[in-house]
Amino acid sequence: MIDVLIIGGGIHGTGVAQAAAAAGYDTHLVEHKTLGHGTSSRSSKLIHGGLRYLESGHFGLVRESLRERSILLRIAPDLVKPVRFYIPVYDDTSRPAWQVRAGLSFYAVLGGLGKENRFRSLPRSRWDELDGLRREGLRNVFQYWDAATDDLLLTQAVARSAAGLGAVIREHTEFLSATEVQGGFKVRLRTTEGEREEDCRTLVNAAGPWVNRVLEMVNPGQPGIGIDLVQGTHLVLQEGPSRGIYYTEALSDRRGIFLMPWKGRGLVGTTEKVFTGDPERTEPSREEVDYLLENVRHYFPDLDATVVDRWSGLRVLLRGQGDLFRRPREMALLPGTGRPPRLVTLYGGKLTGYRASALKTLKRLRPALPAAAPKADTAELKLQ
Ligand SMILES: Cc1cc2nc3c(=O)[nH]c(=O)nc-3n(C[C@H](O)[C@H](O)[C@H](O)COP(=O)(O)OP(=O)(O)OC[C@H]3O[C@@H](n4cnc5c(N)ncnc54)[C@H](O)[C@@H]3O)c2cc1C
Repeated sequence: MIDVLIIGGGIHGTGVAQAAAAAGYDTHLVEHKTLGHGTSSRSSKLIHGGLRYLESGHFGLVRESLRERSILLRIAPDLVKPVRFYIPVYDDTSRPAWQVRAGLSFYAVLGGLGKENRFRSLPRSRWDELDGLRREGLRNVFQYWDAATDDLLLTQAVARSAAGLGAVIREHTEFLSATEVQGGFKVRLRTTEGEREEDCRTLVNAAGPWVNRVLEMVNPGQPGIGIDLVQGTHLVLQEGPSRGIYYTEALSDRRGIFLMPWKGRGLVGTTEKVFTGDPERTEPSREEVDYLLENVRHYFPDLDATVVDRWSGLRVLLRGQGDLFRRPREMALLPGTGRPPRLVTLYGGKLTGYRASALKTLKRLRPALPAAAPKADTAELKLQ
């Protein structure tokens, strides 16, 4: 019998597969399309603590993400690379220089004050080097370090690592339903060869934007956590910056917008708008494209901002009060109703924190799993 069956081949599903296989369990992952088909190939591709989460008081998330960033820089040096980030402060920027400096100082403290957490204010004599950044009204430019990756390649690398530990990764395999029976679940799957049934002791629902749909396919049913799906759009531009990533303030609503180098071009994102349709059908709207281009053209007036590609991804945010931009980004786990729970459903989270999220998920399942001999520690396994 399969010990852990994971639904969803995004970064969280592959992360749980790696953690479960490393802990010595017989692990299978099913993905109805291909790995990274969902949000995990449509993120901003940052491996970061999330400087802006300091403003909303999510210090635990920032500390954990910075810890995970340093682990990923160590175990995946070909995939996760340090990058210079620039924050320009203008006459009319809503966060004054002292506030940015205070935020960066706190960020450095949470990150452990290492060399990688140093920041500085760039002297005016160096502003010419900044990829044509608008100079009018410019008061300060801060430079600090974070990291970036290729989210799809990272997801595939984590899946390879899981497979190397014995996990079975099954693409083009759709989860159809599960029924709880004595000691586990009977699961129905659709593969390219037709439908089949499998038995497993525990189930992990890591279906990202499809999370509550998948939960509805489990018997006995349980209410899911209320969520909003929030669409974020990125545009690939003909030309991009070469020095690093620019973190600018959107003109109309003061949200942070990133402009970064991406495969010899530029990548700008993102937007946030509540999405209510079929997660399979997300696409950038005209307003989102205009919003992003308005900002690029304002801050980088000479850059060739011809759009050569575009996509949207969906964030899973727990339903709550207030502004989407300030809503918590922490991952939340919903255990199933059985004792001990044999199902764990994973909501939200960050690409950056996938490894920590996977360990928390596995911890919830342990009481329902037999003893196993661990094979490896995911904080030490190289990803390539
Ligand atoms: C615009 C945007 C920018 C972001 N930027 C960053 C960033 O810079 N840094 C960061 O750390 N985080 C970022 N995030 C967050 C991060 O991308 C997500 O938290 C993460 O990718 C979610 O991964 P997941 O595995 O939970 O979901 P997904 O990647 O969506 O994976 C779910 C998978 O489940 C599969 N599935 C669904 N139903 C079934 C079924 N019935 N059977 C089998 N398979 C099924 C889907 O095909 C899909 O592949 C961003 C998110 C967005 C939307």
